[in-house]
Amino acid sequence: MRSADSHDTSPPYAQLTQRIAGEGASAWNIHFRAKARQARGEDVIILSVGDPDFDTPPTIVEAAVTSLRSGATHYTDVQGKPALRERIAAFHRGHGGHADTDANNVAVLAGAQCGLYATAQCLLDPGDEVIIPEPAYVTYEAVVQSTGAVPVWVPLSADEGFQPRAADIEAAITPRTRAILINSPHNPTGQCLTPAVWESIATLCREHDLWLIVDAVYADLIFDGEHASPDSLPGMRKRTVVISSLSKSHAMTGWRLGWVVGPPALMSHLVNLALCMLYGCQPFIQDAAIAAFDEPPTAIATMRQTYRQRRDAVVETLRDSEVVATLPPAAGMFMMIDIRATGLSTHAFADRLLDEHGVSVLAGEAFGPSAAGFVRLSLTVGAERLREACRRVERCARECQGESRLAARPLNGMTS
Ligand code: PMP
Repeated sequence: MRSADSHDTSPPYAQLTQRIAGEGASAWNIHFRAKARQARGEDVIILSVGDPDFDTPPTIVEAAVTSLRSGATHYTDVQGKPALRERIAAFHRGHGGHADTDANNVAVLAGAQCGLYATAQCLLDPGDEVIIPEPAYVTYEAVVQSTGAVPVWVPLSADEGFQPRAADIEAAITPRTRAILINSPHNPTGQCLTPAVWESIATLCREHDLWLIVDAVYADLIFDGEHASPDSLPGMRKRTVVISSLSKSHAMTGWRLGWVVGPPALMSHLVNLALCMLYGCQPFIQDAAIAAFDEPPTAIATMRQTYRQRRDAVVETLRDSEVVATLPPAAGMFMMIDIRATGLSTHAFADRLLDEHGVSVLAGEAFGPSAAGFVRLSLTVGAERLREACRRVERCARECQGESRLAARPLNGMTS
């Protein structure tokens, strides 16, 4: 006899499950494939993920251990420990944020990703539109769609260095637009918005009464220049939400510690959401985060300097290439490589690069159609290994270009 359960399917899942299962979730397949090959002992250089290869600085680890040992294992302030919120507010002020930002403008959440998700839940209704320059970080689509809102993609032009233009954003505004989501410094391109573009976007937000959501997770990894924060522009404080974390700047991706800076009313909404979702971040991790802010800046500066040297190593190794070109980032830990001259789709190129040359990168299309023809590599291995990866990229690109030229050449005596 068949058991009653064997052919029964479960009751239906919520429609939400379809809205969060987009392309973004499958973008990582190449990365998992590379990890599997590396685990089998193969010589694979993994440049497909943005996880720093540095250890979290020891003083931060020790602060967590000391906090745990001293019994910080209970529920804590749902909005985040006041001492941590004060430090985050100071960090925000020090990174171009509004001079009056204080602990009441901050909510501590489990990473910037959780901050983005929670912010979207509190700002967006079904049918709302959110304007997002594209290419964009892969999770944005699902985050926006989780609320029933709709992402409206504004293409960035490769030939303009993937810099957003306010006119393109303005053209995408409709009566349903509720927010503009900007990631600067940008993943995947590593570009930063100029002050002039921030100002134009701020003007659009004021004129059309829009929220400006800013993902600033790479703000502490700018190589040249200062980070600008639009909440300090006139009339922007009440409509700007800045999301960030310690993941990248302090090599703390696994700690899951991030935050949202915005108007106090948003903070109470986030607290209500956290009450039914998270109930506060772990107190010992918050204590470690306090230590992270107190950490002498040298550890952080060293990491930033190292990413910068790696960027320069890639630029230098590929400088004379006739088949690939680099788009040097102004910040962060990623770099776009232009492989358009190979004639291959970027997915096909990335697959071949992994299968035949043992380097894993992400295809630009994973971040949006406007990044077709580019692959993104992470600056998360040492400079020598990166140079080796670049030589393999260049070799693979030359092979592909040779083959596509051969395929394009008409055969003697044949007419079509
Ligand atoms: N935004 C961007 C642009 C990112 O690149 C990442 C991480 N790759 C996140 C948000 C999420 O960061 P966190 O680890 O703080 O959740």
